[in-house]
Amino acid sequence: MGGGIGGLTTAIGLLAAGWQVTVYERGQALPPTGTGLGIWPSALRALDALGVGAAVRAVGRPQGDGAIRRPDGRPIVPLDMDRIRAKHGEPVHLVPRPALLRALHDALPTGTVRFGSPVEDITALRADHDVVIGADGIGSRVRAALLGDRHGLRYAGATVWRGTADLDISTGGETWGSGARFGVTPQGPGRTNWYAVLTVPENHRFSRPDADELRRHFGDWHDPIPAVLDRYATSDVIRHDLYHLAPALPSYVLGNVALLGDAAHAMTPDLGQGACQAIIDGAALAECLSGAEVADGLLAYDRLRRRPTQRMAAASLMVNRLAQARRWHFVRDTAMRLALSFGPPA
Ligand SMILES: Cc1cc2nc3c(=O)[nH]c(=O)nc-3n(C[C@H](O)[C@H](O)[C@H](O)COP(=O)(O)OP(=O)(O)OC[C@H]3O[C@@H](n4cnc5c(N)ncnc54)[C@H](O)[C@@H]3O)c2cc1C
Repeated sequence: MGGGIGGLTTAIGLLAAGWQVTVYERGQALPPTGTGLGIWPSALRALDALGVGAAVRAVGRPQGDGAIRRPDGRPIVPLDMDRIRAKHGEPVHLVPRPALLRALHDALPTGTVRFGSPVEDITALRADHDVVIGADGIGSRVRAALLGDRHGLRYAGATVWRGTADLDISTGGETWGSGARFGVTPQGPGRTNWYAVLTVPENHRFSRPDADELRRHFGDWHDPIPAVLDRYATSDVIRHDLYHLAPALPSYVLGNVALLGDAAHAMTPDLGQGACQAIIDGAALAECLSGAEVADGLLAYDRLRRRPTQRMAAASLMVNRLAQARRWHFVRDTAMRLALSFGPPA
C-alpha cells in the first residue's frame, strides 16, 4: 500500500520473486514536480539487484564535491565525493523525485499500480491479501492502525522551504547559520535545487510573505544563495514542518503486515537517507519473501532492517540538533568535522 519510492521498489522485487502484486496509491498519477534526492551507493546497489539501477542513474547525475559552510562562505567541513567514490565505486547520484518514481513505475507491468485508490480499511486489506506492506509514508495509516498513536510524529524543531531556481551552479553544499540553514544542489543544466531551513515553533505563521522572510534570513549569505533567491520559481516552492517518528518501533512486522520506508522509520532529512533506506527496505523485503513462508520471511526482514534503519534515524536526528544549534557554534562545527571524519553513510 503506497506507490511512493519504497512501495514501487518492493513491487518490482516481489514480482521478480513470483508474487502477484497490487499497489494501492491514493494519488491520481505520478507526481509531475518535485525536487532532487541524493541517492547513495548502497541504495543504487539495491536497485541494481532489482534490475533498475541503470535506469535510475540515467535520469540522475553524479553529485560533485561540496562543503558545509558558514554564511560568509568559509568552509566548516568539506563533503568529499572522491572519498565515497574510492570506498564504494561511485558517487552519490542526484535524481529528481518525479524521474525516480517514473523509472521505478516503468519497470512494473501496466496496471500494477492502482492510482486514485486511497486505502481506508486496513483490516479488510489484510483479510483479502496474503501480505500487506505499509509503504504509505510518514503519516502512515497502516502504522497507526497497528500501533495506535504511541509511536507518532514528533516535530523536529524546524520548517523547510524547497524549490528549484533557473541557475547553473557547479558545486552543491549546505550553509549553517544560527538556527538557519540553506542548501543547494545542481539538478541539471541551468537548474538548481535549493532548500532553506529555519528553527521555529511548530505550525509557525510568518508575518511576512515567504519571499521576504527568506530574503531577511538568507539574503546576505554567500554566493550563490542571493542569486537563488532572485531566480527561484515561486510557483513550485513548498513549505512544510519537519517531523520524525518517535519512539522507534518495537517491530516492523505484525501478523501478515510489514512496514517499510518512512512508515517504519521516518527520519529527519539531515543525512539525505530516507528514500535510500526505503529503497533498501523494499529490496530486502522482497528478497526475504522470496521462496520463504510468509511469517519467516517477514521476521527475517525485521531482523535485517530494523536496527540499521533506526540507527540511521538516530544519527540523522543528532545532525539535525547540531545543525540547528543557535549557539556554541565552535562545538557544533568541531563535532560535525569529527562525525564526518568517520565517513558519511553510503
Ligand atoms: C526536505 C527533504 C529532503 C529529503 N532529501 C532526501 C535525499 O536527498 N535523499 C533521500 O534518500 N531521502 C531524502 N528525503 C526523504 C525521502 O523523501 C523520504 O524518506 C522518502 O520519500 C520515503 O519514501 P516512502 O516510499 O517511505 O514514502 P513516500 O515517498 O512518501 O510514499 C508514500 C506513498 O504512499 C501514498 N499513500 C499514503 N497514504 C495512502 C493511503 N491511505 N492509501 C494509498 N496510498 C497512500 C502516498 O501518496 C505516497 O505516494 C528528504 C525528505 C525531505 C522532507
